[in-house]
Amino acid sequence: MNEKALQDKNELVKLQSVNDLRRTMDGYFARLKEASETHNRKIAWCTSVGPAELLYSMGFEVYFPENHGAMLGAGKNADKYIPTAVAHGYSPDICSYLTSDIGAFLQNETPLQKSGFASVPKPDILVYNTNQCREVEDWFSFYARHFSVPIVGIHTPLCITDLSPEIITGVADQYHRIIPELEKVAGVKFDMDRFRETTGLSHDGCVLWKQVLQKAKHLPSPINFFDSAIHMGPIVVMRGTPYANEYYKILLAEMEDRIKNNISAVPEERFRIYWEGMPLWYRLSSMARMFAKLNTCIVASTYCNSWVFDDLDAANPFESSALAYCKLFIVRSDTVKEQVLAKLMEEFSVNGIIYHESKTCARNSNNRFGLQNRLYDRTGIPFLEINGDLNDPRCYSEEQSIIAIETFVEQLAGRG
Ligand code: SF4
Repeated sequence: MNEKALQDKNELVKLQSVNDLRRTMDGYFARLKEASETHNRKIAWCTSVGPAELLYSMGFEVYFPENHGAMLGAGKNADKYIPTAVAHGYSPDICSYLTSDIGAFLQNETPLQKSGFASVPKPDILVYNTNQCREVEDWFSFYARHFSVPIVGIHTPLCITDLSPEIITGVADQYHRIIPELEKVAGVKFDMDRFRETTGLSHDGCVLWKQVLQKAKHLPSPINFFDSAIHMGPIVVMRGTPYANEYYKILLAEMEDRIKNNISAVPEERFRIYWEGMPLWYRLSSMARMFAKLNTCIVASTYCNSWVFDDLDAANPFESSALAYCKLFIVRSDTVKEQVLAKLMEEFSVNGIIYHESKTCARNSNNRFGLQNRLYDRTGIPFLEINGDLNDPRCYSEEQSIIAIETFVEQLAGRG
């Protein structure tokens, strides 16, 4: 049965690009596995919004523990591992990516074992940027101690309102300062042309990803948040390589095709919601079905938009990297966040906002300091707050949330 026929039966239709996504991600893990077994290339671990372009330019294979954390969450295994990290002194209140990842490591288990890995690939160096949170430094420090390998980091100022030249220069200088250690580990000299090349590739990949996300402005939307949360994999782990760009050309073409053939992500889209906060990885597919039944499409999210680094510029890789990674939503003050969100509400014709207050990720829970009320005063768009967590299902009350979401959608219907 083709996509249109399934839609006519009011069924949620999977994106056809999912096979290309699998192939792209399999290729990424195969390269990592080969490097970890043959040691023919060095492996750098990097934070999800860390300096991936610099690392790829120096020939590293790059592994992202947050991607691994999301895999543990999506596999519904995080609560099996978190207690082990807690027993080693990591609080259950800190990032559940961190606690599930470290817990799984201490139990010598990883979903990568299904792909033939003996364990997670051993790092030769760990590289972080604190633009997202302080947790990443502590998380990577655990592994630096365990493997006795070097760790280097970029410390970014937080809650930035004005992206002043001092901030950009300060962060760009830190990029320069980590290069000698990277050279020592990689065994190659930094090459400006290669860095320009990976920065340009990353820029182009981010633009393609942005174009995919922006297709959701169409009424009805051809893509929803639950698709995007899965299809963002390549931009997280392969930005700066041609692999991500090849994939997003395919996905973008599918979006265009869906719009042309009137295929929507939610068969009978009636309401359009913005998702603020982290996904609940362990409930992704059940939530997709629930919102579809409510004829509601989550058309945009802060989370998926976070990998749009379109300020990267091959002509000026250091400063543009500093700008792109400081401009990121999570690094900005609430004043800036409010402006960004207000603009997105309008662009995506949003009827309502859901804030996911994620128990273990304060930095991605933007309803803690009154932003939700100020945005409501400014836009008049109603909102709902649900409590949960990105990875730890014990923090989420499904029954309570379903009732709250259904009631919220009924209220939207009542607004006409
Ligand atoms: S931003 Fe949140 S989810 Fe991401 S690493 Fe930091 S605490 Fe964890």
